[in-house]
Amino acid sequence: MQTLQAKNLVQNPVFEVIVLGDSGGIEDGNLSAFLLRSLNSVNYVALDAGTLVNGINQSIKRQAFANLPIHENQKWGLAGTILRDHVKGYLISHAHLDHVNGMLVASPEDSNKNVYALASVNNMMSETYFNGKAWANFSDRGIPPRLNKYHIVDLVQGETVSIAETGLKVTAFSLSHPIESTAFVIENDKDLFVYFGDTGPDSVEKQGKLDVIWTYLADQSKHKKLRGLIIEVSFENERPHNLLFGHLTPNLLMEELHNFASKLDDKAAINQLKVVISHIKYTLESGTNPRHKIKQQLTEANDLNLNIIIPEQGQKLLF
Ligand SMILES: [Zn+2]
Ligand SMILES: [Zn+2]
Repeated sequence: MQTLQAKNLVQNPVFEVIVLGDSGGIEDGNLSAFLLRSLNSVNYVALDAGTLVNGINQSIKRQAFANLPIHENQKWGLAGTILRDHVKGYLISHAHLDHVNGMLVASPEDSNKNVYALASVNNMMSETYFNGKAWANFSDRGIPPRLNKYHIVDLVQGETVSIAETGLKVTAFSLSHPIESTAFVIENDKDLFVYFGDTGPDSVEKQGKLDVIWTYLADQSKHKKLRGLIIEVSFENERPHNLLFGHLTPNLLMEELHNFASKLDDKAAINQLKVVISHIKYTLESGTNPRHKIKQQLTEANDLNLNIIIPEQGQKLLF
């Protein structure tokens, strides 16, 4: 009991994360999406947006916004006020539907804001969805008529930019996936948080993209504090490597985190590091419970003494 309490104790938290969607495909209403804010600000940035309005509604039910000072707009209600007034932008890791569905379908009632992504991701959003066919073009880029609600901002790998009205900064890094995916290193003064979109492991993808991020984070850790990360584990260890399609298993995640640990001057920095597991693939197949199995396999493989968190939709987490 004492250990459990010690584990959940957060000393001087800096970041708040609301879990809008905790899983990878295929259950609509609970797809990859998180809200992140600095506790010095009342405004969030969305980390992917597979599920948006349902995620906000579920989080309201679980009192996740109880400490947020909200001036509820009569016309838009509580969920509408949170989406329109407190979510100031989107960081989109890649254009797969399970990461953008919530933003697309909510766009008619959303407020004006920025969408930040690598150029290839933004361009794919324009070609695939914001094209006047799959969906009206709510952005300020691509095929007219453009409704100019979303201002599209191209991020450049390794360049740090401010996220408007959040007090946060972001640096993007490319990830290996069937289409280009992205990791976002988010800064609040001397504190860091990292969100990884879908990614395969370097040992399978052979592009060394995660190694670039681990090297960057190890270097940043010399003068900043890494508060936690969200990273995917889509499949169980039994999944053959030729059928990963750019995703991780528990053992492959640990392989990557061992690479990170090997680069750290201060090995204690990874001890009890909060690692939030996203994108566990939901399945309709009866008799299988990937969440349970993946949790078990991560616990068995956790020889780095990480604080591994399997999040639930509607949960508030502090870092
Ligand atoms: Zn996905
Ligand atoms: Zn994907």
